[in-house]
Amino acid sequence: MSEPLFARAALIGIGLIGSSLARVLRRDGLAGEIVVATRRAETLETARSLGLADAYTLDPADAARGADLVVIAVPHSAYAETGQRIASVLAPGAILTDVGSVKGAAVNDLQPFVPPGVHLIPGHPVAGTEFSGPAAGFAEMFDGRWCILTPLPGTDPAALERLTRMWRSAGMKIVIMDPQHHDMVLAITSHLPHLIAYTIVGTATDLEDTLKSEVIKFSAGGFRDFTRIAASDPVMWRDVFLSNRDAVLEMLQRFTEDLTALQRAIRWGEGDKLEELFTRTRAIRRSIIEANQA
Ligand code: NAP
Repeated sequence: MSEPLFARAALIGIGLIGSSLARVLRRDGLAGEIVVATRRAETLETARSLGLADAYTLDPADAARGADLVVIAVPHSAYAETGQRIASVLAPGAILTDVGSVKGAAVNDLQPFVPPGVHLIPGHPVAGTEFSGPAAGFAEMFDGRWCILTPLPGTDPAALERLTRMWRSAGMKIVIMDPQHHDMVLAITSHLPHLIAYTIVGTATDLEDTLKSEVIKFSAGGFRDFTRIAASDPVMWRDVFLSNRDAVLEMLQRFTEDLTALQRAIRWGEGDKLEELFTRTRAIRRSIIEANQA
């Protein structure tokens, strides 16, 4: 048998994404040893009962010590503290990466703690569900999806290649991007849609009681899809909006302008404008299906 890609892989955070990656590492024999760290004893016990790793700890430094791969899979607000706690044990040559949904903030929060010789390569597997925690993960989650890596200038190509091989093994297609570009793209494709879903569901919730029961009863008319998105983890999404503030505000401004234009078209009975937009958006849906991303 060939050598595993990593001798010791440390997963800091073992929720939906961390546990899905743990399952891939195990399935594909990518790590000689898998160690997980998480904040709460309860989550650690769930991870242990699922057999996700070889060793379990509540101390991220214990997990990262001696690891040649360290993956941060916690919400963004915990990045700086996590970086600080593991900084002194990161070994030269190790790859430090993350799976977070915002990349500019990942670089800002982690880079100050990266010792010389450690390769910081931020990453974002663009895959997931509205569920959280280690029991919700599954190895196939990444299959056929994109993984965006945002290496900094001067990143060691061999380290980048090793990380790329791990995500390819998970079934992902790799794309390299600048962190700021990533944050703009994700602001419109992921962050704004979540914000809109949270708003619509919030608006419906604020309606008086009779109307609310009708909303649930007739939810098949589009509302149900929004409720699925709006069921996503509150802490993770709070952190995404605060970490990607500039890009989200920019996209929200554009969206508000377009919404106002639609409002005007409805008010003045300009059906051609509505039809033209809806025809264009239908074509976008078709191209997403053709690209196997539906
Ligand atoms: P999750 O299922 O809620 O798991 C979060 C993990 O982080 C748990 O191990 C949790 O530990 C730990 N954690 C939470 N708050 C913490 C804190 N303040 N300090 C230290 N550890 C903390 O979350 P997830 O969905 O896997 O998301 C993890 C990362 O992946 C996030 O940065 C998110 O942006 C990114 N991401 C998520 C998705 C998605 O669809 N969910 C997709 C792509 C990327 P305890 O349970 O022990 O408290």
